Amino acid sequence: MSAHGRSSARYTALLTASARKPRKFERFLRPEGTQVNVSSYFGVNTFGWKLMEKYLSAADVAELRESSPSKRKLTRETAEKVAAAVKDWALAKGATHYSHWFQPQTGATAEKHDAFFSFDKQGGPIESFTGKLLMQQEPDASSFPSGGRRSTFEARGYTAWDATSPMFLMESDNGLTLCIPSVFVSYSGESLDNKTPLLRSITALSEVATDSLQLLGYPETKYVTTTCGAEQEYFVIDRSLYELRPDLVLSGRTLLGRIPPKHQQLEDHYFGSINQRVLSFMIEAEFELFKLGVPCKTRHNEVAPSQCEAAPIFEFANIAADHNQLVMEVLKNVARRHDLVVLFHEKPYAGMNGSGKHLNWSMADNTNHNLLEPGDVPHENVRFLYFLAGTVKAIHDWAPLIRSSVASAGNDFRLGANEAPPAIMSVFLGETLTEVLERLGSGQSPSQKSREINLDLARIPVISKDNTDRNRTSPFAFTGNKFEFRALGASQSVSMPTVHLNSAVATALSEMNASLRKKANGAKPTDQQVLEVVLETYAATKRVCFEGNGYAGEWHKEAERRGLPHLRTTPEALTPIKDPKVKDMLVKLGIYNSEDELDSRYNVLIERYIKVRLIELETLHEMISTHVIPAASMQLAELREACLATRDMLGTVGSGQKKAFETLNTLAESLMAQREKLGQYLQKCNSNEDHHGLAASIAADGMQLLQDISTISNEIEVNVDDQLWSLPKLREMIYTL
Ligand code: ADP
Ligand code: MG
Repeated sequence: MSAHGRSSARYTALLTASARKPRKFERFLRPEGTQVNVSSYFGVNTFGWKLMEKYLSAADVAELRESSPSKRKLTRETAEKVAAAVKDWALAKGATHYSHWFQPQTGATAEKHDAFFSFDKQGGPIESFTGKLLMQQEPDASSFPSGGRRSTFEARGYTAWDATSPMFLMESDNGLTLCIPSVFVSYSGESLDNKTPLLRSITALSEVATDSLQLLGYPETKYVTTTCGAEQEYFVIDRSLYELRPDLVLSGRTLLGRIPPKHQQLEDHYFGSINQRVLSFMIEAEFELFKLGVPCKTRHNEVAPSQCEAAPIFEFANIAADHNQLVMEVLKNVARRHDLVVLFHEKPYAGMNGSGKHLNWSMADNTNHNLLEPGDVPHENVRFLYFLAGTVKAIHDWAPLIRSSVASAGNDFRLGANEAPPAIMSVFLGETLTEVLERLGSGQSPSQKSREINLDLARIPVISKDNTDRNRTSPFAFTGNKFEFRALGASQSVSMPTVHLNSAVATALSEMNASLRKKANGAKPTDQQVLEVVLETYAATKRVCFEGNGYAGEWHKEAERRGLPHLRTTPEALTPIKDPKVKDMLVKLGIYNSEDELDSRYNVLIERYIKVRLIELETLHEMISTHVIPAASMQLAELREACLATRDMLGTVGSGQKKAFETLNTLAESLMAQREKLGQYLQKCNSNEDHHGLAASIAADGMQLLQDISTISNEIEVNVDDQLWSLPKLREMIYTL
């Protein structure tokens, strides 16, 4: 093959990609050819409450609803009826299989399909599905990460239907599968997934917050739900270019590649008009999501070229978490139909904006009243301030635990990298609220600005919600009637951040409830007493509040002075999970059955970090050997040819030519030396048994090595003939759509 043949795959891919047209898909149309309204087909593939009501008796539906936020278990009889109903519905829709759909600790979802098809007692073919099959399935649990929990004799785990999240039909080109949202637990009751702790944390917070509300003078409160809405960022790339990048395929991010002269600095992509092909893809993905009952609301371009965002309308946290998983799954699948690949990695391209996930979080009572919504009358504002102070206290008291929930290999490149909040947990309340709390705390009445109306009663100002500014640099910001946790990585499940947040808030509120009880001394607390607890809590925890620029270096120093933890890398950020105080808190709340469970979670997460990093390093080693060094060698051979030709013609070689050869040769030599070093480093890693030590070494030395290698490789990239370069370049990957 000629030297130039090497890059032909890249050129072909580029031509293929640039020639693609937006894809049309079969939408639901009215007879006159216009599209039907989304509301007419929203949720058609879900077995929601409406269908339950259609197929089941009122008493059964009531039982199912009851089993929602409370802990009540379903009876076998009701399960049988639901199974029969959902079977009829699914078969009528053309489904052939069912699957418990669960969320192991990989952060992704898992499924194992079983056919409805079976034989009856006489050996005749039938379709069957029972309450038992609905309630429980046994995947071979031993291949899921368990952090050493299910060793040898006890390798069994089972999945069980989570009745609080609707079953749904997943369509594929050639068939439909009934998916049953499920928890995944061991036979001894330990959680092996992300959903079980999430459900438990929702219950724990509900119990404490209900107690708070009753104390605060809302005796009719039955339960409190957690509400969430996850904004999802992602990149898209043409499939043929993607396939030529071993690093994207294997590690989800580019490990090398020179950042092009123009990327995001003109700030022309954020909210820019959406590329037609990408828009077609988004519309089709939303169409699929609407059928699955996912309330997609917004779509727009993000900061970097080829980066986008999708956000839903908020929902009950457990459903929001399931729906975010579905969003990621559907985006991924539908992209393929458009010859696109979606990248959820937190940092697919070094030097450009990364992808995060914003978790909007709040609490609502059983009448759907948002507890973080400032009220219209003073009494409601006292309640608002109580839950606000509880949340601030939660972040203050449990910052390391909250930080641990967003720790991942990919997110290490974002947190603190001036595009995402730092790895220091702080709370942004906004100027008005801060002033209100400060002035009330020092015994002054609120200033004109914050008081607006209705100040006469109990010294409580009416807090208008549009006073909350949008400080994008804060990891945890109050945005009017909810908090926005902005430190999540794009690829992660929202479950664990919600678990840690709920647990921390439950603990904080329960301490506040105790103070309030003490103050009220057996009587019904007055607004004044409630406000005192709010102000005492705020005074004791306000060092976690920060209104300034979280990206600035001064904040890092200031945070250190305030004694706020700054856990920079994943290995550091995971250690809080092993802290006895944290374990005790989580076990007491009932999130986990035992402290050992937390050790196993730590093991899963640290092992995952190590594995992800080793995959990156090994992929890098291979790419250097099979792409970069060969390209450099070919370029050197060409330069030699050119030098020889010049000498042949002119009797001497010019200094420019010599320098070009020397420069590239020096780069290639140092790259080969670094590759050698990387090879040795990988060998050392593979024989290291101490997980924490290994993870820490990789975070420091391994990542430094990777950085050094990619710097040299990126320098080589601009010293090599474009036709000799086989790897799609960053410019091509972000602009060819
Ligand atoms: P923006 O922040 O762009 O003004 P919104 O305030 O409407 O947009 O909400 C952003 C995200 O927060 C959306 O996903 C929305 O559904 C979610 N959200 C809004 N209210 C709540 C709430 N009470 N609880 C949880 N999430 C919420
Ligand atoms: Mg955003």
